[in-house]
Amino acid sequence: MKNCCLAFIVFIIFGCASKDDFEAVYDVPEEFQPIVETFVVEASSRGVDIKLTNLIIRYDDALEDNVCGRSNTLDKDPGFQKIILINSGKCWLNDLQKEALIFHEMGHCILGRAHDETLLPNNAPKSMMVKNDISVYSGCIYALGGDTSCNKTNRREYYLDELFNESTPIPDWAN
Ligand SMILES: [Zn+2]
Repeated sequence: MKNCCLAFIVFIIFGCASKDDFEAVYDVPEEFQPIVETFVVEASSRGVDIKLTNLIIRYDDALEDNVCGRSNTLDKDPGFQKIILINSGKCWLNDLQKEALIFHEMGHCILGRAHDETLLPNNAPKSMMVKNDISVYSGCIYALGGDTSCNKTNRREYYLDELFNESTPIPDWAN
């Protein structure tokens, strides 16, 4: 009986302590570090203060071919380790697509945002939290015959505004 109670007390102490004992890990490969830093700077310039101590980013061979990245939580403050997995097939075709992928995944696990499939009046996604599109503010991949309509880099400002503030007004280019 005595041992039983002791075991129960030990269980209570360690059982309750385990959550407080959670030690967040920050482990971002050098390749992605500048993007993560840009995220924090862009957030700060929009009045959103972010301190990153809980984030692991790593490549994962096991992601399905059509999945460029995956965050393990949509919770800003989950009380467990946040992990972003990146498809080792490297989905992006330029640096802005790579940034958009990392920002999208950080939108999930750092900002707590879910997917948003809303469209703007010109049928462009309302948010970079749209599913399966890392080209929302991409430059041209193949610019044929001097056609520059594929160049969407001027949209980056809006998509970042919207990422940190869902109530951002519709931009002029979307009308
Ligand atoms: Zn997503």
